[in-house]
Amino acid sequence: MPSYDSNNIFAKILRGELPCYRVYEDDKAFAFLDIMPRAPGHTLVLPKAPARNILDITPDDLAHVAKVAQKIAQAAIKAFGADGITVQQFNEGAGGQVVFHLHVHIVPRKAGIPMKPPASAKEKPEVLAEQAKALAAAIAAG
Ligand code: AMP
Repeated sequence: MPSYDSNNIFAKILRGELPCYRVYEDDKAFAFLDIMPRAPGHTLVLPKAPARNILDITPDDLAHVAKVAQKIAQAAIKAFGADGITVQQFNEGAGGQVVFHLHVHIVPRKAGIPMKPPASAKEKPEVLAEQAKALAAAIAAG
């Protein structure tokens, strides 16, 4: 497998070199909105430690990302009035991965509404800002 490349776009977001719509942060994990959401509120959860994907992340970091993914899924149900949550996580190009810093997709779902195709449309900045605020508040409220 290739090794971790610290120039990937999510590493730059983690270092604060690129902007994002942050919804959650702790000492080991970071979460922000996907700018090309497959449904409103689509969020990405990342470990802060460098890891390309599930094949090289430490078990402890993976377990922490899973805990944060659950926290965000529970908050997304409240923040977006979702009926369900789709969780996705891709590994290597053959597995559908495009950005090579491990991330878990949390996609809030409404009954009967299909997800958009991946990376099909960029959401408006003001919509993302509002959604990030709502989701961050729901996470903080527990
Ligand atoms: P994948 O590696 O296949 O899990 O997909 C990468 C995801 O990152 C896609 O859903 C993109 O829409 C999303 N994405 C790409 N660039 C950014 C960015 N700058 N901020 C937030 N999400 C992004």
